[in-house]
Amino acid sequence: MLSCRDVSEGASHFIEGETTLMERFNLRLHLIICSHCRRFLKQFRLTTSASRQLQQVPEMNEETAASQATVLKSKLEDQS
Ligand SMILES: [Zn+2]
Repeated sequence: MLSCRDVSEGASHFIEGETTLMERFNLRLHLIICSHCRRFLKQFRLTTSASRQLQQVPEMNEETAASQATVLKSKLEDQS
């Protein structure tokens, strides 16, 4: 049986799905009886996906900003 500590320490593994069938089974079993870890994992999942999305935002350097501006300008000119 997993302890709360096992769950919190292995949280990223559980989220990433880098677990064995047995680990997933044990985790589910623990979550059924432990509302604390249910909340914790839910929160953890939210934070992880939020930080992923942040990482996916491409860096806006001067060059891309300039080319974006050019594209935007030509679009505006097309419309007029
Ligand atoms: Zn727990």
